Amino acid sequence: MQEEMAIHWFRRDLRINDNPALYYALKSNYKVLPIFIFDTQILDKLEDKSDARVQFIRDTLVDIKATFEKLQSTISIFYGNPLDVFKTLAETYTIKEVFTNRDYEPYAKTRDSEVKSFLKSKSIQMLTFKDHVIFENNEITTDTGQLYKVFTPYKNKWLSKFETSSLEFFPSETLLHNLYKTKPLPTPTLAEMGFTSSLIKIPPTDFEESIIKSYDKNRDYPAKNGTTRLGIHLRFGTLSIRKSVKIAKKLNATWLNELIWRDFYSMVLAGNPEVVDKAFKSNYDQIPWRNAPDEFQKWCDGMTGYPIVDAGMRELNSTGYMHNRVRMVVASFLTKHLLIDWRLGEAYFAQKLLDFELASNNGGWQWAAGTGTDAQPYFRVFNPTSQAEKFDKEQQYINKWIPEYNTNKYPKPIVDHKFARERALKVYKEALNP
Ligand code: FAD
Repeated sequence: MQEEMAIHWFRRDLRINDNPALYYALKSNYKVLPIFIFDTQILDKLEDKSDARVQFIRDTLVDIKATFEKLQSTISIFYGNPLDVFKTLAETYTIKEVFTNRDYEPYAKTRDSEVKSFLKSKSIQMLTFKDHVIFENNEITTDTGQLYKVFTPYKNKWLSKFETSSLEFFPSETLLHNLYKTKPLPTPTLAEMGFTSSLIKIPPTDFEESIIKSYDKNRDYPAKNGTTRLGIHLRFGTLSIRKSVKIAKKLNATWLNELIWRDFYSMVLAGNPEVVDKAFKSNYDQIPWRNAPDEFQKWCDGMTGYPIVDAGMRELNSTGYMHNRVRMVVASFLTKHLLIDWRLGEAYFAQKLLDFELASNNGGWQWAAGTGTDAQPYFRVFNPTSQAEKFDKEQQYINKWIPEYNTNKYPKPIVDHKFARERALKVYKEALNP
């Protein structure tokens, strides 16, 4: 008879240490086979076949696999549809339990419930754990049990709950002797999955203490190396959020604040999955967005004639990263100055950002468009020129990304600021007070 075993299903928790589901799997009564599935339903939608994120995931899995192989185990890496993969696994092994960390995106929730019911039909239990955030779903609510709609009161509640609970770690890395022993298995190549390698560089996983310590002073200046660039690692779980929060608590309250925004947007998405394609404030779906494909293309290409906007878009296009202050400016510019639907900008960021995360991206875009969880009404329209004067005074960031700046090759503004601001205010006002 075949040995009974458990599975740990890696998804957005691509690390061996401090991994709750892996920890509980390794503590179960069974030896553990770790798996990862390159999900065709996700990969097929990626337009850029040299997407750096696919390569990053694969490289990370290769490292995890090397560690497991030293222990005569492996990670079984599939390329396919998760439900089909589990059907194959259930025929190949005698699985008793499947362990995994929770994912709050609508697609992931549907996928997981399908897999769970299939497993149940085979008498296999699926056990899920909180890993991606400190507080999930409705762990932080108002005194009357409602989900928060605005950040500041959420943050205050988050902090008071955090002070009274202890931060628990899950030393999965100490239990690897409980992995299932098996021969090495092949890893699908990028080419087998229809991808090629990317030249985009992935920032390191290390905490740079000096950056975190001065985060509050430097974070708004895009020319400075003032933020951590850890977004991709928090997104794919190559870094533990608990470890990050512990460091934030010790080193910098403003940095902690940003990590709380991350929990906040995760909660907003989990509790309001309709925000994926609808305005969080539903009356804002009445805004008649302009259909202006040429202007949208100029925005994508960094050719609007507003240097801070163009520098940001060019930084994004060539590195997969854009500074937060500039993300706010370019998103405001698209939605207010050009009156183009936030969903188009959101989708463009989703394609390009290494740290793309549905919850934070959707939250950031809806915040900028005024349709989201912002406590301020719609009439804040960033002035791209004064934003540049304030946050890139020496024009270092602009000069870095726009070599032809101040020459006649650089385009004239595609729209006049004063005209665009008034148009936006008028259109929003009419749509909201018909
Ligand atoms: P740091 O500034 O060092 O912050 C540390 C971490 O905290 C970040 O890596 C991120 O995980 C989290 N964080 C910081 N700021 C925010 C925030 N405002 N909201 C939520 N989490 C935050 N962040 C993403 O992680 N993924 C996205 O897809 C994303 N899209 C955005 C779209 C728009 C329009 C805007 C305005 C913001 C978006 N952000 C997104 C938030 C923020 O811009 C990035 O998290 C940040 O710029 C990443 O830089 P960093 O890694 O150096 O993080």
